[in-house]
Amino acid sequence: MIELRNEQQLAKAIERAKEIKPRVKFITFGQYSVQGSTGSFYSVTCFKRNGIRIADCDCVAGMRNKPCFHAAAAAGLHSGIASMR
Ligand SMILES: [Zn+2]
Repeated sequence: MIELRNEQQLAKAIERAKEIKPRVKFITFGQYSVQGSTGSFYSVTCFKRNGIRIADCDCVAGMRNKPCFHAAAAAGLHSGIASMR
């Protein structure tokens, strides 16, 4: 579980996401499937808890609460969709 409290903490992950431009598949609102650098897909869940945005990724980094580029990519798409609602 990755708490998206500030951009700084996510800066590296966002940078990686921009570099790699992973494919992000929309499953449902808050549920995404993001392609990793090895080609396999990871599922990312985005939600809000107590006003804090949270992204949950099932990759090795994500499970260790480290911001990964999958979470950053999914969060980018998620906030775009959320703002259209
Ligand atoms: Zn991940």
